[in-house]
Amino acid sequence: MLSAPSGGGKTTLRDRLRKRMPDLQYSVSATSRVPRDEEVDGKDYCFLSGEVFRRWIKEEKFIEWANVHGNLYGTPRMFIKKNLKQGKDILLDIDVKGALEIKKRFPDALLVFVAPPSIAVLEKRLRRRGTDTSEEIKKRILTATDEMSAARNYNRVIVNENFEDALAELEGVVRSYKDSIS
Ligand code: 5GP
Repeated sequence: MLSAPSGGGKTTLRDRLRKRMPDLQYSVSATSRVPRDEEVDGKDYCFLSGEVFRRWIKEEKFIEWANVHGNLYGTPRMFIKKNLKQGKDILLDIDVKGALEIKKRFPDALLVFVAPPSIAVLEKRLRRRGTDTSEEIKKRILTATDEMSAARNYNRVIVNENFEDALAELEGVVRSYKDSIS
């Protein structure tokens, strides 16, 4: 499982890791957030209205869900069940609360936290990304501070200072974890 404050470079790292390790089954989360320009429904997220999302919660379709920055995000239970049954390795990109929830149910899960070199760098990256309003950026910075203190419960923290180094480290961590459990 991969977590990071938004703007930490996690999405690019995740996508590159998936290219290098195509056997990892990526769990596409559901969200009530509106899609960003480049995002594709069913690939990046399964985009749901708030109403449908809340119905899915009642119907217990999520293995975990959380309210992150005012939007709802959840991991679909069926996908996880099906892939675990087939003995596949699953990659999740979820927030700290969700990751710790899953770790409780699956204690052997590997938790990797991608940290920015500093909060100041994170803020700069979020502004440069240009996808969030100032208000959202403020919220994301506040959440990031909390998330970074929760990172002590993770198996590994990777500081994303240099992208290629962080990618190599991430791949190494995942491969040695896979070797250790197989
Ligand atoms: P973003 O809106 O930037 O795509 O994602 C915001 C945060 O929600 C990120 O930290 C991301 O990891 C988290 N997130 C995405 N999907 C899920 C999910 O299914 N469950 C939980 N708990 N968090 C998620």
